[in-house]
Amino acid sequence: MRDFDKHPRTVPPPSKEVFYARKGEIVTCEQGHPIFTFARDVKPTEKFDPSALTDWKQAEPQAGERPTCAVCGGQFHKGGAFHFKDGWRGAFSHIAGKLKQANDEAQD
Ligand SMILES: [Zn+2]
Repeated sequence: MRDFDKHPRTVPPPSKEVFYARKGEIVTCEQGHPIFTFARDVKPTEKFDPSALTDWKQAEPQAGERPTCAVCGGQFHKGGAFHFKDGWRGAFSHIAGKLKQANDEAQD
């Protein structure tokens, strides 16, 4: 028997280096209201894909709209990061800058 077969499979803790969001994780506003659920694992380096966000508890923000909680107006997304129950996680600032640039170019 291989060593890893002896252990029941457990969900690995989120790794900020490999993924910033794991499938099934819920993004909340800063007051803890649930906003949506991640449909899959997401790496900080990958191009932002809205289809990774599912089970919205409020209307999805439209392009150019400031994404805020429909209940309290709190933030759940800023600078390429999303708010989880344990705090902010997401694409790091140098990547977020590139994403912003790409978004700005796409909107022109
Ligand atoms: Zn809220």
